[in-house]
Amino acid sequence: MNTFETVINKYNSLRFNSIAVSLEMLVSQAEDNETSYLQFADMLVSHELSKRDENRVNLNMKRAGFPVKKQIEEFDFVSQTTITKKQINRLLDFSYIDNRENIVFIGPPGVGKTHLAIGISYKSVYAGYKVLFTTALELIEMLDLAEAKGELKKKINTISKFDTLVIDELGYLPMNKQSMFNFFQLINALYEYRSIIITTNKDFTNWGDFFFDDNVAVPIVDRIIHHSHIFMMGGESYRLKQKINLNYSTYRI
Ligand code: ADP
Ligand code: MG
Repeated sequence: MNTFETVINKYNSLRFNSIAVSLEMLVSQAEDNETSYLQFADMLVSHELSKRDENRVNLNMKRAGFPVKKQIEEFDFVSQTTITKKQINRLLDFSYIDNRENIVFIGPPGVGKTHLAIGISYKSVYAGYKVLFTTALELIEMLDLAEAKGELKKKINTISKFDTLVIDELGYLPMNKQSMFNFFQLINALYEYRSIIITTNKDFTNWGDFFFDDNVAVPIVDRIIHHSHIFMMGGESYRLKQKINLNYSTYRI
């Protein structure tokens, strides 16, 4: 005799866990709607597929390691006039990931570079892509540690599993020779294979300072900017502007 319990156990044994969890609800829905057999068969499998997608997205969102949640919808393109909504929307078909292109946001602090890098990447995770968010400092530390343990290749392979690597705040600190070499190995491995999103306060002409040595800066920069979308952003710091507005309204009260 089939009871819900025995059928649910069979679904569980095949790892159709989402059907198992919702079987009673799905059956009663089908009864209420007088669903055809074929429709019901489809309902079950569609339910499982959509739950699996949802779980995968949730897992990828955790693995991405975004420091904060930032959405493109929250970005005010009126106060930031050096980049347009259209330019950002064009990226949201994620062809930059499929074509292994890079995105670089260059500009002074507070103009929205990290916000946009996270906002775009957030949407790409929902679209099914895998992202790893790091700051340049964290990334360099991670690579240096791996190199010291003789595991640089392994670490680079792990990073290469993500469709996009976000490197936030590149250029704030100088790198030593070994770090630079490790970083070059990573960029070389990702070049034309994965996409990279970089935020930086440095124009490319000054990257030599940051990379310690122009001999390494040139091939690194070359690989990053080849097939890339570069956005030079400017304007006042949004943080500062908000603070000034806040003080102003306090003054008015
Ligand atoms: P950057 O990375 O360029 O230093 P952030 O992206 O971290 O700047 O922006 C600083 C703060 O201001 C963040 O909280 C961000 O969400 C907010 N912000 C910056 N620009 C805008 C904007 N145009 N619209 C809405 N919020 C913004
Ligand atoms: Mg930033």
